[in-house]
Amino acid sequence: MKVRTRIAPSPTGDPHVGTAYIALFNLCFARQHGGEFILRIEDTDQVRSSSESEQRILEALRWVGLQWDEGPDVGGDFGPYRQSERAEIYKEHSAKLLDAGHAFHCFCSSERLGELRKEQMANKQRVGYDGHCLSLSDDEIKAKLAAGESSVVRMKIPQEGVCKIQDTLRGEVEIEWLQVDMQVLVKADGLPTYHLANVVDDHLMEITHVIRGEEWISSAPKHILLYQYFGWQAPEFCHMPLLRNPDKSKLSKRKNPTSILFYQRMGYMAEALLNYLGRMGWSMPDEREQFSLEEMIKDFDLKRVSLGGPIFDKEKLDWLNGNWIRDLSEEEFSQRVLEWAINKQHLDPAIPLIQSRVEKFSDIAPLAGFMVSGLLDVTEASFEHKKLDKDAVRKVLQFVSWQVDVLFTWDKAHIEEGFSGLAEAMELKFRDFVFPLFVAISGKAASVSVMDAMVFLGPDLSRARIRHAVEVLGGVSKKETKRWDKEYQQLNIKKNS
Ligand code: GLU
Repeated sequence: MKVRTRIAPSPTGDPHVGTAYIALFNLCFARQHGGEFILRIEDTDQVRSSSESEQRILEALRWVGLQWDEGPDVGGDFGPYRQSERAEIYKEHSAKLLDAGHAFHCFCSSERLGELRKEQMANKQRVGYDGHCLSLSDDEIKAKLAAGESSVVRMKIPQEGVCKIQDTLRGEVEIEWLQVDMQVLVKADGLPTYHLANVVDDHLMEITHVIRGEEWISSAPKHILLYQYFGWQAPEFCHMPLLRNPDKSKLSKRKNPTSILFYQRMGYMAEALLNYLGRMGWSMPDEREQFSLEEMIKDFDLKRVSLGGPIFDKEKLDWLNGNWIRDLSEEEFSQRVLEWAINKQHLDPAIPLIQSRVEKFSDIAPLAGFMVSGLLDVTEASFEHKKLDKDAVRKVLQFVSWQVDVLFTWDKAHIEEGFSGLAEAMELKFRDFVFPLFVAISGKAASVSVMDAMVFLGPDLSRARIRHAVEVLGGVSKKETKRWDKEYQQLNIKKNS
């Protein structure tokens, strides 16, 4: 049997370092066994998925040096590799489950489900579907379907006993069936949920080993049961420990830049980032810190992954990256710098911002140096303003930071709309409101348009600079965060996406 592994990102945001981390382990495992590594796009969530995000994920994974053998861009014998192009396949499979009595139509309204949820929470019961529609007769179901009543398809779940999951790293894991919800498999719009699409595709794409983040372990019983319902052999499951912030919380963009593009823009070497991700929970037999992808593949052993949550620590990454950089020859170094940002493709979008503001080429570096920098050397004094005192500046920056944390579409129109709404809600003149942002983003009180600069820098670096500015101004205490968060929630800001 040929080993086949996969990475199955959902294109709903920026390419996450966690995706590269899981992809790396899948790739190493496949390569070491002479197998294949597949990339599948899980875009069943039509509202949150976008082709731009898919594009960025593919580019980021390629940049970092992970190449797949089959995928939406390179093709393969098991395509299509984008779930949105496989709707018919899922329809066929959900029909099979319904026919065999393993799944059922559910007509419950969102109001009923909301009430049920409230009641269960009040009674401190497990929140989940109560099986209401299981008691419908065949005739009732037919009549409802014929009348065009909205419905979903749910899977049946045993009401007693335990599900035993064999996990490569954990051995046998038991989850009581009572803890497992009667999962929706097909939504009211006829599209599958992650669970159905994922299992069907892993089977049809002949995936032998599912190596994924541990947040999916609670879904494993549903998946194992689906394999049984279909009469298929389940793949081997391996749930990898999650990457964590230094405070042990789950790696999140609120605390740490999580986008691969951030690390690219900061000028980390792809090899060093990959090397660092390889060190997350895994070690070389001789424990050395610096190794290439080829070396990792050669010595790879999934069993040497340790389950303690690996800490993604930027200082450690900086140290490792420094080692990689110093190992380059001078020729390689200059070539890498050119590839990194001193090239036409990277600079072209900045030209319209710069050209009208300079008189000599030598004016470019002082004006636009911030565009090729990491975190800026700002101090408390940089933020002095005649109308806004330090606290007001801190507050503007903190509120903006909350706003851009959830800004989904990162373009000028959305950033501008968000800022003008926030300035108005905070009862500040726009000119005063954007002052701290100019300083945080460009290091100066006046520069190229701050919104254009944020688009150029991208979400993660912009967020990191705003967060850095808050820190420079003394940070925000826990108590203050609570108070301000409440205030922020109460501001009547027009919500954008
Ligand atoms: N689409 C899921 C994700 O975004 C894939 C989970 C899995 O590997 O099964 O992480």
